[in-house]
Amino acid sequence: MPAYGRFTSAQLVEIQSRSFLVDCGEGAQMQLMKLQANLHRINHIFISHLHGDHYLGLVGLIFTMHLQRRTNELHIYSHRGLDEIITTQFKYSQSAPNFKIIFHALEKDVKEVIYEDDKVTIETIPLAHKIKCSGFLFKEKPKPRRIDKEKMPPTLTIQQIATLKRGDDIVDEQGNIVYKNSELTLPPRRSRSYAYCSDTAYSENFIQQINGVNLLYHEATFTEDEISKATETQHSTARQAATIALKAKADKLLLGHFSARYRELDPILDEAKQVFGNCELAVEGMEFTVQE
Ligand SMILES: [Zn+2]
Repeated sequence: MPAYGRFTSAQLVEIQSRSFLVDCGEGAQMQLMKLQANLHRINHIFISHLHGDHYLGLVGLIFTMHLQRRTNELHIYSHRGLDEIITTQFKYSQSAPNFKIIFHALEKDVKEVIYEDDKVTIETIPLAHKIKCSGFLFKEKPKPRRIDKEKMPPTLTIQQIATLKRGDDIVDEQGNIVYKNSELTLPPRRSRSYAYCSDTAYSENFIQQINGVNLLYHEATFTEDEISKATETQHSTARQAATIALKAKADKLLLGHFSARYRELDPILDEAKQVFGNCELAVEGMEFTVQE
């Protein structure tokens, strides 16, 4: 529950000018406004599971989008039931959003690709929680080679530039190489990845799936002295979150979903750092960038 200025779960994941909202706890729209996020740019919302602290802000956000005269379709990815919840809210307010909402049910207990475009794929991560719960793995697709501006001849056509970015040489009509790709291009920038894992008991089932992830968000609801509470409620301790980051060879770990019993979060961070050094607390309004 909200405590000490902390809100329930919601994150905005921005990749190559796309805005994905991941979970939408109560007050998420207030936070988005405070951060000056453009709601019109959010076209895809991913809800990990149907415990209230992960979706109770959604209906309010949809009403606001309606009042803002949104017209774009809104895609919502969730386990079954959320479509019914939203439909019921609109039914009794005798209104309907003036844009189309498209529900995508997360049905499988194994990982599946649920979103794909020319630059990004998003797949589910099966988590271990009291009800069906999915994390989300965001991955950039391989990127084009970069033109070396210092070496680029001024006469190249747009088509030739596209050929170089694909990694091909430029050839004339007889098939003779005019420009060798390796002489005019630089390697592509790296394709980044981000894994969102909340809520979950300690589970090694998805370690292979997130192996080598650049940024891992893993819930750390408790510290190790509350491990029995963590096990009972199917949440993780900070030490467990850090162990997953270590085993998955993540570059960096973000901790979140802290229990309201903790006023200060230092014990959570300190405990995780004993296992995995490169970690931070994901607290309200913070932004984290994964460098290309
Ligand atoms: Zn939960």
